[in-house]
Amino acid sequence: MVDDLQAEATRVLQRLVRFDTVNPPGDERSAQEWLAGYLERAGLAVSLLGAEPERPNLVARLKGTGDGPTLCLLSHMDTVLATPSEWTHDPWSGDEADGFVWGRGALDMKSQTAAEAVAAASLARSGWRPRGDLLVVCVVDEETGGRLGAQWITQNHPDEVRCDYLLNEGAGEVIPYDGRRLYGVSCAEKGVFRFALRTHGVAGHASMPRMGDNALLKLGPILDRFRTGQPGVDLTDPPLAFLRAIGEDPEDAAGAVARIAEHEPRLAAFVEANLRVTFTPTMASASAKINVIPSVAELRVDCRTPPGLGEDDARRRLVEILGEDGYEVEFVEHTVGNGSPVESPLMMAIEEWVGQEDPDGLVVPTMLPAFTDSRHFRAAFPDLVAYGFFPQSHQSLFDAFPLVHSADERIDVRDLGLATRFFADVSRRMLD
Ligand SMILES: [Zn+2]
Repeated sequence: MVDDLQAEATRVLQRLVRFDTVNPPGDERSAQEWLAGYLERAGLAVSLLGAEPERPNLVARLKGTGDGPTLCLLSHMDTVLATPSEWTHDPWSGDEADGFVWGRGALDMKSQTAAEAVAAASLARSGWRPRGDLLVVCVVDEETGGRLGAQWITQNHPDEVRCDYLLNEGAGEVIPYDGRRLYGVSCAEKGVFRFALRTHGVAGHASMPRMGDNALLKLGPILDRFRTGQPGVDLTDPPLAFLRAIGEDPEDAAGAVARIAEHEPRLAAFVEANLRVTFTPTMASASAKINVIPSVAELRVDCRTPPGLGEDDARRRLVEILGEDGYEVEFVEHTVGNGSPVESPLMMAIEEWVGQEDPDGLVVPTMLPAFTDSRHFRAAFPDLVAYGFFPQSHQSLFDAFPLVHSADERIDVRDLGLATRFFADVSRRMLD
């Protein structure tokens, strides 16, 4: 049974990788139709619903026998682009070699699509029926923000995808740490409040520096304060629970980050970003001509806020670093992050499964500094418990992360089998 599931998930993943679903343009229809056929043959009721005919979202339902919660296994079919010349195996080959399936989407996230679909199909074929409904939902258009995918389907067909519990991408790769094996469950996602910061001066001829008032030079001290300054901590539940789980004191966040860094600097960078509002200047511009002193200079700053915090919170933390004067700020993106409770029956089911599969494993709540489709589902269904979890025990977070959106993306087939067993197991635990 175990090996059968792994072999089937491997075949399904290979097939899905061979559909080019690079977004833009996405063009997910052929892949979605293939997956629809696979799930229908297993006995699920499938519909394809899209704002555009070439980009349908897939909703497959294994109808429940009575009253019970509905569990949704979510994924997306689109991928980012790939440059074949940089790859060992062609990115759309789906080759199985050296114990891996290779290709764009092998981690992000056709692997999870395959594991979820094979888990649901095997349960359906076995004759098992849930109390509530089991949903397999595979959306389009995630990599460019979900407008035609998760956002569209939750707003236009909420009854088709309404659920009480949801599993999606976002965490689950094992994190080796201080002799332990941490399995992250992503409970929340940060918001995005990017802004333009401008300084002003007076234009003049560059041949006489003191004739004007150079706005660009005023960015210098501001950049330096971004380099050395650190806004105060805005602690939310997932990082709080994470620090407690690994035995650190959340009251002493700075000390905790320093101690984590002694064991694993890469984990410390991740934890630190989740403790506060972050500001990362990424673009700068000033004069359009080399011989003209600029009257305006502009920085573009990528700002991420802990879930629930908004523009006012970002401004308050910015003033902490820069002071009030000498610049103006215009926010160009307003996305409030959201999250789910760190304690729930779904978290318990994950803990029980990890306890069985990996007795040295420790389940820890985590938070993503970016956002996924879970954000759209939480916004549509306020009582929903949505987590990111795709267990991988052979490829660690530090193995997998550099391959996502990069060359030679690949998944260990043993992890594909592990994840497929997980999705079958958690469905039974939640819906039996
Ligand atoms: Zn993804």
